[in-house]
Amino acid sequence: MNHPEGDFMMKALRLESAGKLHFLDVPVPSPPETTKEVLLKVTHCALCRTDAKMWREGHRDLVLPRVLGHEICGTLEGEPGHHVVWPGLSCGECQYCSGGMENLCPSMKIIGFHRDGGLAERLLVPRDCLLPLPPALKPHVAALAEPLGCCLNAVHQAKVQQGDRVLIFGAGPVGLMMSLAVRAMNAEPTAVETSSTRRPKTKAFCERTDLRIEPTVPRETFQAAINATSSLETFAQGIGAMGPGGSFCLFSGFDGRGALPASILNEIHYRQLSIVGAYGCTRKNMKEALELMALRPGPLEDLIEGFVGLEGVKEIFPAMLHGEVMKIIVPLQS
Ligand SMILES: [Zn+2]
Ligand SMILES: [Zn+2]
Repeated sequence: MNHPEGDFMMKALRLESAGKLHFLDVPVPSPPETTKEVLLKVTHCALCRTDAKMWREGHRDLVLPRVLGHEICGTLEGEPGHHVVWPGLSCGECQYCSGGMENLCPSMKIIGFHRDGGLAERLLVPRDCLLPLPPALKPHVAALAEPLGCCLNAVHQAKVQQGDRVLIFGAGPVGLMMSLAVRAMNAEPTAVETSSTRRPKTKAFCERTDLRIEPTVPRETFQAAINATSSLETFAQGIGAMGPGGSFCLFSGFDGRGALPASILNEIHYRQLSIVGAYGCTRKNMKEALELMALRPGPLEDLIEGFVGLEGVKEIFPAMLHGEVMKIIVPLQS
C-alpha cells in the first residue's frame, strides 16, 4: 500500500503498561487490500474515564501495548462527510451478531482495548463499523455518539417506559448523558450526585434540559435505577428506592471489594425486581444516538469542557479519575 509522500508516520498515544503512556511517532497502518478495512483519518477522539482507568490500573479487555481511544470521529480520503466509529469487531455470524446484540459476540474485539484506537492520526477500521453523521451535526460533538449509544443500551436493557421515573447515580458526563437517554424514552430522570464540587459543572446542562440533581437519594419511588458511578452502595440505595417490579441496570462496573447482605437479595425477591447489566452498545444504539444528537446537540455541547492535544492527555487523566472534568475532546488534524 502506498502512502502519499511524508505520510508514513503518524502521531499516536500508546499505553505501554500501567502508568506508561507515550506520545510517539508510529507507522501509519496499511489496510490489506483483501479485507474490508479502511484507513480513517481521525479528526476527533473524546476521552473517556475508562481510558484514564486503563492508564492507572488496566482493564479486563485491555491488551497491551495499545493506542487508546474508542469515542472516535473521522473522515475517509476522497469521500465527503464524517463518520463515527462503532468500536467493535464482532464475528457477524453468531447468534448475538445475527440477533442485533453484536456487543455480546463471544469473539468481540474492542477498538481502543484489544485493537489500536482513535488517539492517533489514522485508524485502521472495518468499513462496517463506520456510521455517517447526520447533516449539520458537528464532528467534535458526534464523537460522543459512542457513550450516548451505551446509555441508550442501558435504558433499553432496563426496559424504561414512557412516564417511568428513573434514578441515575452520578452526574458526571455519563450520568448526564444517561438523563438524555431516559428522556428519549419519554421518561423522567432524577440524578443523584454526592460531590458538591461536581454539581456546579452541571449547571448549563441542567438549565438547558431541566434536569433535577439531588445530593442524596430522594424518599420517592422509582421504576428504574441505573448506576453511572462505581460505588457499590448505590446498588443497595437503588434497590431501596425501587417500586415493585422495577429494574436496576448495572452500567458502571463496581470498584474494589464489597458484599451484599442477604436482606437486599430478599428485597429483589419480595418486590419482584429485575437486575440487568449493560456493557457497550450496538450499531443500532449508536445510530439512535446520532439521531438524538442531531435533533438537539446543545446538551451534548454543554458537556464538553475543553480540547487538549494528544501530548496533553496524560496531564488530564488524574483529574478525570477524580471526576473533576466533564468531556474532553482531542482534535487530531490541525
Ligand atoms: Zn467510553
Ligand atoms: Zn458474533
